[in-house]
Amino acid sequence: AKGQGKGRQVTYATAMDQRTAEQSRLAADLRIALDTDQLTLLYQPIVTMPGGALFGVEALLRWHHPERGPIGPDVFIPAAERTGLIVPLGAWVLEQACRQAVTWRAELGPAAPATVSVNVSARQLREARFAEDVAAVLGRTGLPPEVLTVEVTETAVFDGGTALTELRAIAALGVKIALDDFGTGHSSLSLLRSCPADVLKVDKSFVDDITDGGPQAVVVAALIGICEGLGLRAVAEGVETAEQAAELQRLGYRYAQGFHYGRPMPAGEIADYRPAADKR
Ligand code: C2E
Ligand code: CA
Ligand code: CA
Ligand code: CA
Repeated sequence: AKGQGKGRQVTYATAMDQRTAEQSRLAADLRIALDTDQLTLLYQPIVTMPGGALFGVEALLRWHHPERGPIGPDVFIPAAERTGLIVPLGAWVLEQACRQAVTWRAELGPAAPATVSVNVSARQLREARFAEDVAAVLGRTGLPPEVLTVEVTETAVFDGGTALTELRAIAALGVKIALDDFGTGHSSLSLLRSCPADVLKVDKSFVDDITDGGPQAVVVAALIGICEGLGLRAVAEGVETAEQAAELQRLGYRYAQGFHYGRPMPAGEIADYRPAADKR
């Protein structure tokens, strides 16, 4: 039994080494990707309900690897976080998204997305220069601060260090703050007390089962009440069906994001976005 245990341990260590090696390889390739146009941003509609009219968009990073094809952010963002590459990568995302937002405002006028959301990772928030970098990008691009929304998770906020200071500084600039994947962390409610926030994004895992009448529906119903009480905009994430959209509206939700309304798409397609009529 002793030998077996040891063997298992070795196997485990090897698997860990392989994962680490794989992550280092990815990170090295990602560094090149950043300089050679392999990265793009897609934009997913955030809509108002009822009706599904475009309200804003969330920028989502895509990597087309020259040999391995498309690699999802769930795979390469963790590698970028581990190596610190997320800092220049995140700066690139922020700049691109702000430039795109300015372009939309020039081209589409009042039909432009009212807000452009950018995901910001824990590592970025730990940089003491984060707020200054945001201010610099806004200055360079001329984007009004209130058009930009920064999406952060509970893990990132409670990561320690300067995260809260940086968030308060960007909130003071007028930038909006969204609490992403809300409800999936360990102390989501205490986050509401300490962190400046304008938007609460109710995680897909809660939205998934709301039409079954299970406990998820109770949580989703309670969160809209919390948002109303605190003056936060509630956005339901991962809305995939007309039934979910209808139930969310019944519960009082007015903002949603998900495949039912629109998938992440190239910037050029946002101008043509038309809501898929809620089939009832
Ligand atoms: P997230 O911020 O929670 O983004 C929402 C994810 O859910 C996106 O996956 C989106 O494509 C997907 N999604 C949206 N609606 C639906 C739906 O109705 N059904 C299903 N099944 N999925 C839906 P994506 O683009 O693969 O991104 C995954 C995660 O990677 C993001 O989760 C975010 O945490 C991270 N990420 C993406 N882009 C960036 C970035 O530029 N910077 C950072 N730091 N993280 C990013
Ligand atoms: Ca997000
Ligand atoms: Ca989310
Ligand atoms: Ca997520």
